[in-house]
Amino acid sequence: MTDSSIRKIGVLTSGGDAPGMNAAIRAVVRTAMSEKISVVGIGHGYKGLINKEFTPMFGNSVSAIIHHGGTILRTSRCPEFRTDEGLDLAYQNMVDEDIDALVVIGGDGTFRGAVAFMKRHPDIKIVGLPGTIDNDLYGTDYTIGYDTALNTVVEAVDKIRDTANSHGTLFFVEVMGRDAGFIALNGGIATGAESILIPETVTDIDNLVKKLQYDQRKHKTWGIILVAEGEALGGAAQIAKLVKERLPSYETRVTILGHIQRGGSPTCADRVLATRLGYEGVKALLDGQSGVMVGIMNNKAVRIPFAKATKWHQRIDSGMLEIARVMAL
Ligand code: ADP
Repeated sequence: MTDSSIRKIGVLTSGGDAPGMNAAIRAVVRTAMSEKISVVGIGHGYKGLINKEFTPMFGNSVSAIIHHGGTILRTSRCPEFRTDEGLDLAYQNMVDEDIDALVVIGGDGTFRGAVAFMKRHPDIKIVGLPGTIDNDLYGTDYTIGYDTALNTVVEAVDKIRDTANSHGTLFFVEVMGRDAGFIALNGGIATGAESILIPETVTDIDNLVKKLQYDQRKHKTWGIILVAEGEALGGAAQIAKLVKERLPSYETRVTILGHIQRGGSPTCADRVLATRLGYEGVKALLDGQSGVMVGIMNNKAVRIPFAKATKWHQRIDSGMLEIARVMAL
C-alpha cells in the first residue's frame, strides 16, 4: 500500500562527494514525479536543511546531469547538525516547507546524522542511498561512486607502471581508503600490483622486503606497491621510507593519487546503480519504510536499517586477498 501522507520529498547529498550522485538525484526526482510527488532539492547536505537552501525540482532540473561527477546539490560537512539546536532548526524548516520525507545520499556519517535526526524527531521519514567511493557500507554489494573511483585508480596506475617499467623504479602508490581497503585491493588486482597494503590487514614489512629481495634476484627492480591511505604503518611515504632503509639499492618513488579519485564522469556501472537506487529509495518511502538504506545485494534491491549499514562494515573477502597474493608471486 502506498504511503499517501508523502506529498513532498526533500533530497540531499552529504559528506564526501562521489561520482554517480547526480544520477541518483535524477532518479529520485523522476521517480517521485511519476508518483505525482513534489521534490525539493536541499543544497549542501544537512547544512542546507538548517539554512533553508531549498529549490523545487522538476524533470528538467535534472536534465543532462547523469554523466557529470560531483553533485549539483553540492555537499558539506555540517557540525551544527550534531547539536540539538541544529536538529530542531532542520526539523522546523522541514515542517515550514511541508517536506514529508527525505532521501539522503551519502556515506556512514550521513546515515548516522539521519539516525540522530530521527531519534530527536521520531515522526521524520528518511531513506538513505549509499554514496561513497569507499564501498564500506554493509547492505549493498557496491556503493555509488566506487566503480568510477576504481577505474580512475586503474587508469592512473597503468600510466605509472609505464614509467616504473621504463626506469626500473619501484612506485609506492597511495589510494583513498582511511578505513577500507576495497579500492586498494581491487585496484591492485586489476593493475597487477606487486603488493597491496590495506587497513584491514597487518602490514608485514619483513615479508614485503623478502618479496622485493626475491624480485631483485630475478633482476626485477620495478613495480607497484598499492597502499590504502589508512594502512596501519602510516601510508605510502612511510612504507617507502621503511623499504628504502632496508633495500637502499632500490630506486623508489611515492605517488599519492588524492582527489582525482573522487571526481570525473561516472562509469556505466555507477550510473545504472545510482539510477536503480534512486528509484528504489522513493519506492521504499512510498511503502512506508523509514530509517533504512536501500542497497543492492546479489542483484536484488534490499532495505537495511541504518544501524546495520553503519555498524556492520562491509568486510574484505579473504579469498580476494589470497588471489592478490598468488598473482604477485
Ligand atoms: P559521509 O556521509 O561521507 O561518511 P561525514 O562522516 O562527513 O560523511 O558525515 C556527513 C555529515 O553527517 C556530517 O558533517 C554531519 O553533519 C552529519 N553527521 C554525522 N554523524 C552525525 C551524528 N552522530 N549526529 C548528527 N549528525 C551527524
